[in-house]
Amino acid sequence: MEWLTDQSVLVTGAGSGLGKALVKRFIAEGASVAAFDKSEAKLDKLRADVGERVVTIVGDVTNFDDNERAVTTVVGSYGKLDVFVGNAGLWDFNGSLADIPPAQLASGFDEIFAVNVKGYLLGVKAAMPALNESKGSVVLTLSNAAFFPAGGGPLYVASKHAGVGLVKQLAYELAPDVRVNAVAPGGMDTDLRGPEAMGMSDKAIGQVVPINEVMQQMSALKRAATAEDYTGAYVLLAARDQSSTVTGAVLDTSSFGTPGRPPR
Ligand code: NAD
Repeated sequence: MEWLTDQSVLVTGAGSGLGKALVKRFIAEGASVAAFDKSEAKLDKLRADVGERVVTIVGDVTNFDDNERAVTTVVGSYGKLDVFVGNAGLWDFNGSLADIPPAQLASGFDEIFAVNVKGYLLGVKAAMPALNESKGSVVLTLSNAAFFPAGGGPLYVASKHAGVGLVKQLAYELAPDVRVNAVAPGGMDTDLRGPEAMGMSDKAIGQVVPINEVMQQMSALKRAATAEDYTGAYVLLAARDQSSTVTGAVLDTSSFGTPGRPPR
């Protein structure tokens, strides 16, 4: 059974990692999908992978006009927008307050919060008229770092905690017509990068941190998850028929909240 038949979905940060896995899963669930990313090369590759079943928009989530252009493209292509998925993000490679030089602290904060927090706000702002029209919903990508320390340094952890505030306030403001929820995945080996201002844009998470081993140690379920493993939670929250009473919720799919048992 397909859960998103005839639904139109816009995913930001859709060029790789979780966003790309979401595009593929939403298509498999019967949706028409639009992929928004700053990397034209990644979007070209995505189109080569999934063919005509996706429209792509090259743009920057920190820019309102780009977000608005993405929404206009979706509505022009599919006639409506049912689900906005805010997902583009930057990490801080666990940079601690003690270790980050003061100048980088300020500029790194600006860059991380611009993508992880402002990007979500601008995206929802641009999508609101279309979502009000379709009585659609928003699903944001947060992280284990939205609840717990040590999934990043203070910049990333604070930005993902801010995402919880966004979900609660926007669920309140967009009710009763538009639901606003989030998924908090745990670590995955993706192309996740950091701010240029901190010299963290040239390497992906898995090149610096043994992310699969860390996940096996820190998650209660003792397994390294893939981006694909997390997509089901998004489908649940996006599907009107399956979660029509849910708004203001953050689904923690990281299994970091339950202390892992010591090995038996
Ligand atoms: P990723 O880098 O593979 O995907 C993120 C995409 O966002 C990239 O394609 C990148 O080009 C795009 N992007 C970055 N800045 C942008 C901007 N300003 N405008 C438009 N596009 C932009 O990384 P991912 O791990 O798939 O990250 C997706 C989300 O998952 C992020 O919100 C991240 O915080 C979250 N997350 C990741 C992990 C992990 O361990 N990888 C864990 C928990 C949560």
